[in-house]
Amino acid sequence: MQQILNYINGEFRAPNGGGFLDNYNPATGSVYSQIPDSDASDVEAAVEAAKAAFPSWSALTREERSQHMLNVSKRITERLDELAEAESTDNGKPLWLAKRVDIPRASDNFKFFATAILHDSSELHDTDGKYLNYTLRQPIGVAGCISPWNLPLYLFTWKIAPALASGNTVVAKPSEVTPMTAFLLSQICNEVGFPKGVLNIVHGLGGKVGAAMTEHPDVPIISFTGGTETGKTIARTAAPMFKKLSLELGGKNPNIIFDDCDLDEALKTSLNSSFANQGQICLCGSRIYVQRGIYAEFKTKFVELVKEMKVGNPKLADVKLGAVVSKAHFDKILSYIELAKEEGGTVLCGGKEADTDMSGWFIEPTVIEGLPETCRTNQEEIFGPVVTIQPFDTEEEVLSYANGTKYGLASTIWTSNLTKAHRVAAQLHTGIVWVNCWLVRDLRTPFGGVKQSGVGREGGWEALRFFTEPKNICIPLS
Ligand code: NDP
Repeated sequence: MQQILNYINGEFRAPNGGGFLDNYNPATGSVYSQIPDSDASDVEAAVEAAKAAFPSWSALTREERSQHMLNVSKRITERLDELAEAESTDNGKPLWLAKRVDIPRASDNFKFFATAILHDSSELHDTDGKYLNYTLRQPIGVAGCISPWNLPLYLFTWKIAPALASGNTVVAKPSEVTPMTAFLLSQICNEVGFPKGVLNIVHGLGGKVGAAMTEHPDVPIISFTGGTETGKTIARTAAPMFKKLSLELGGKNPNIIFDDCDLDEALKTSLNSSFANQGQICLCGSRIYVQRGIYAEFKTKFVELVKEMKVGNPKLADVKLGAVVSKAHFDKILSYIELAKEEGGTVLCGGKEADTDMSGWFIEPTVIEGLPETCRTNQEEIFGPVVTIQPFDTEEEVLSYANGTKYGLASTIWTSNLTKAHRVAAQLHTGIVWVNCWLVRDLRTPFGGVKQSGVGREGGWEALRFFTEPKNICIPLS
């Protein structure tokens, strides 16, 4: 059986403790590889390697750093088919999705930040013609990057690339549930001669590896994407150590459909925003609000379309939903569907395990109606192929629903009235608002949430600034 290894100081290493964890294929429900059950001593070795590599990596010219990263980007593209296959097997997502979105984006992340640093600039403040203040943006040291399982290589590289491009060295931990493409990335680094110790990847459990990274005094900056509860744990450890923190956390995103929208477009995109990647994208719209005048029509057509979505073998081209990521997650999603029924919801379609010829963890895309705003189903993140649908009358009313959770990651508005779109967008308490579209992700734009969806922003200059420390230098002109 294939054994994944840690990547420390440019070498592939078994964990110091010698233990391995089982890694499951969610579509078959069986173990297909093993990953290191690393501990604090492996993290220590990775941090030492990253510290040792920092002076030379941060001293490279921008062009040299950029070129190293472009080599990785190119090799990801060359190994696209293999990486997509691995991502689909490891995560359960449709192969076509991994091939079209996840892996190309991983390559783009490296390319984007490798080239962004070539066009960087900083500030200068002239103090009344007597002094010049200029801002130096310097790398910080060893950055800790911790990522989740839903978009494994996509999100892993989204953190690693800006950290490296800004001149930091990195210790990174992918989700223990989906480690395979991070392992393949370490092979790629090795193949292209990426400098040793600059990127170190330690596999294992969050409570051991992630916690050791967060607690380590020589990791002064942590970029984390994952659940809100884990984010709180990390913040509790990092705050008294005064670490720089970026937290991209959970969401319960509203999808607001006004009666003056292009209904066909709203239907088509809502299908995607509800169920893409089995609903396991932090940006999925899990609460659909439809203005009363078109509620019945939207609901009927939406449910018809949902029933047509094929669930099954992720390797088949016509499959829309693959498997959910793990047995634990499968049980969690089904338990939320039961909860929704207890809370008075009516299941309009789906609501149970999907009938497939596979032995893994598949759930039918599910639409639930008739739930109050304050119930747990409408307040808590399910992170699966489950949406609720509900009518509204006025803008004021729907804004109170949309803003009425502890989360504030993303929202979507459907309307043909531009004035209304601007007005509503400005009042939504989310870090991202899509109008008449969804998941358009320009890498230059600020990405992140408000309230319990996170702290800080990723993307473009925001990421490069996060991974550097600004220093003001003041010089008299005479
Ligand atoms: P988790 O919070 O469970 O895990 C995320 C990562 O943190 C994993 O690598 C995990 O390791 C690790 N981890 C767990 N415990 C600790 C700890 N004590 N200290 C340090 N690291 C730890 O999230 P999931 O992997 O379940 O991902 C799903 C969540 O991610 C959802 O809530 C989703 O909304 C959110 N998410 C947010 C995004 C955003 O941009 N805002 C984007 C994508 C997802 P292990 O694998 O062992 O658990």
